[in-house]
Amino acid sequence: MRYEIGPIRPPNEAYSLLVRFTRNCPWNQCAFCHVYKGKKFEKRPVKEIKEDIDIIRSIRDDIVALSWEKGYAGSINDDLIELIFSTPSYNEFFKSVTIWLYFGGKNVFIQDANSLAMKPENFVEALAYLKETFPSIDRVTSYARSRTIAKRLTVENLTKMRSAGLTRLHVGMETGSDFLLKYMKKGVTKQENILCGKKVKEAGIELSEYIVLGLGGKKWWEEHATETADALNKINPDFIRFRTLKVLKDMPLYEKVENGDFVILHEEEILHEEKLLIEKLDGITSSIKSDHILNLLEEVDGKLPEDKEQILSVIEEYLSLNKEQRLVYRFGRRAGMYRSTDDLQDELTYLRIKKTINEIEQKEPGSVEKTLSLLLENYI
Ligand code: SF4
Repeated sequence: MRYEIGPIRPPNEAYSLLVRFTRNCPWNQCAFCHVYKGKKFEKRPVKEIKEDIDIIRSIRDDIVALSWEKGYAGSINDDLIELIFSTPSYNEFFKSVTIWLYFGGKNVFIQDANSLAMKPENFVEALAYLKETFPSIDRVTSYARSRTIAKRLTVENLTKMRSAGLTRLHVGMETGSDFLLKYMKKGVTKQENILCGKKVKEAGIELSEYIVLGLGGKKWWEEHATETADALNKINPDFIRFRTLKVLKDMPLYEKVENGDFVILHEEEILHEEKLLIEKLDGITSSIKSDHILNLLEEVDGKLPEDKEQILSVIEEYLSLNKEQRLVYRFGRRAGMYRSTDDLQDELTYLRIKKTINEIEQKEPGSVEKTLSLLLENYI
């Protein structure tokens, strides 16, 4: 049994059930994004989405039946997980639903890039069917494009979606700078971003705003930081989520990098941009999250306003490390060995990383930065 799963989801939806309402991205022009390039946007008919939901229900029933058969009384426990993951005949869909049930069967992420492009009544019908089929669901989230919400949806539309079960929207603001929004072909203005944010909040839906660190490059980093903070201050989203820019060859931005128009910031320079942005956040109660592996400092995390100083101190502490410690940390983070600067205290790991860096440098002087860049590409 198979159902459709799209290519991406936010990092914090790793254990959520993925249900595809639309395919790909209706805009598909952002210069820093390569996810859906060359793929056509489609709104899936409600009938087709309901068929997928029925398939997921059948898979759920099979998993529960298997649990009874193995003597686990319908429970999705560690032994059942081990059995399913070690049996090659269970496909990825069976495994995904098992993981979802193992973590409570409560969270759902609706794919793809802008499911709110659907007719509101179709979205509500599909969502209501999902909730009716799985009464255990208590959190439903989706990506949404701010222009769609600002221009095409009313607060009433959004309120109906919330009543049908939509609890949180992840919106890619990326930057608050009108210049950069245009430069990056985001197809939306700062004012539209603010209007979208206010509508989502008025409808009682939780709002998670994504911001791309490094998007200003060397030329416009201060504008990026200050304008983004200003837009966020006007919205007061529930979550501000950082994701760091990494330019790949198949992104339109790559050409601007190659011809020298866009100058990429070093990841330590990005920390200065991030620091300025956070310093400028004022009068809001958002939670800051850095839960994307591309971010150098995952510990830039906390609730405003009370944690602001502590959040800033994470960046300041990193910047106060000496050159060798910073390089070891960056290597350890990108190699998946470090999650926090506290991990630098582990002397043995520190020495091992230092030895690896020395070996790379001996083979080809100056190639550590290249290695770090390749390690980062693995995460995209
Ligand atoms: S709207 Fe989102 S998914 Fe679509 S191109 Fe832009 S960043 Fe990519």
